[in-house]
Amino acid sequence: MRDIYGNRLALVFGNESKGGECPFFTAKQCYHCDIGTGEGTQFTPDMNEQRLKFFKRYYSAVPPTIDHLVIYNSGSTLNEREMSRGTLGMIVDYVASLQKCGIVSLDSREMFVTADALEYVVNKLRTDQQMRVILGIESQSDGIRMGKLNKKMTRKGIEGAFKVVSNYTERAGMDINVVFQPPELVGEEAIREAVETVRYSLDLAEKYSVSVDFNYHPFYQTKRSRAMYPGHPRANLEDAKKALVEMTKEIETKGGKSKIFIGWQDEQHDQEQHKREAELARELELFDQFNVKQDPSILK
Ligand code: SF4
Repeated sequence: MRDIYGNRLALVFGNESKGGECPFFTAKQCYHCDIGTGEGTQFTPDMNEQRLKFFKRYYSAVPPTIDHLVIYNSGSTLNEREMSRGTLGMIVDYVASLQKCGIVSLDSREMFVTADALEYVVNKLRTDQQMRVILGIESQSDGIRMGKLNKKMTRKGIEGAFKVVSNYTERAGMDINVVFQPPELVGEEAIREAVETVRYSLDLAEKYSVSVDFNYHPFYQTKRSRAMYPGHPRANLEDAKKALVEMTKEIETKGGKSKIFIGWQDEQHDQEQHKREAELARELELFDQFNVKQDPSILK
């Protein structure tokens, strides 16, 4: 894929916690997420080392062309129980060896965004490389994030993560995940909520002098969200585009530095694959253009 920074590649590693699941998934949090189910087995550091070797061998021509690498493990890459420091170190050493790569984004829950974790990663990267923490706040509203999505991420916890990242201003930033049209919000309400989530994140970015980008995910039903909210529809993409236009205006009012990436990968968790295929056939080119150009007029 491409984004504003150039070529973007996501690499997925296995989760090293019990059962290979995200502990928050095991604890029945995050009603919107099936990704936390992992790959059906608990990974060991050796297995993840094998996976990295496989990526290097199988896709040997790709990594040297990558500008922005995104690392997932079906959970928190900064939690030592889910990704040992040995595995994380091996991956970050690899990133440091990629001459073109300027940014690595690492997915994590807020409590693992610690000085220890950031110090570990930043010190392994080259000084011309930046680390970004992907934080899935999804919605600024506690009623939606903690209530409807059952994601027990408090505003205090979110702010704590910003505070830690703020100590590495030049070397670290945040990628904030925003879900469009979360359970029980549709139409204008959903558009307003997405814009308010951007505003909330930009206010924190300003308060802590942290650079912030956004990953924007139109809602689709996973197995879990379908069980919880069977009547809630997949995101209306026309509304999602209207929200994007408003989100970019909000960013402009704050200086215009933040970028938005429309994330359309579902790792096969979307329960309506036929609708998904039809939507992507229609919209994917526009999404890709927006991700590169950040021009909302493309979406009209
Ligand atoms: S949203 Fe993140 S923290 Fe929650 S279950 Fe999914 S992977 Fe785990």
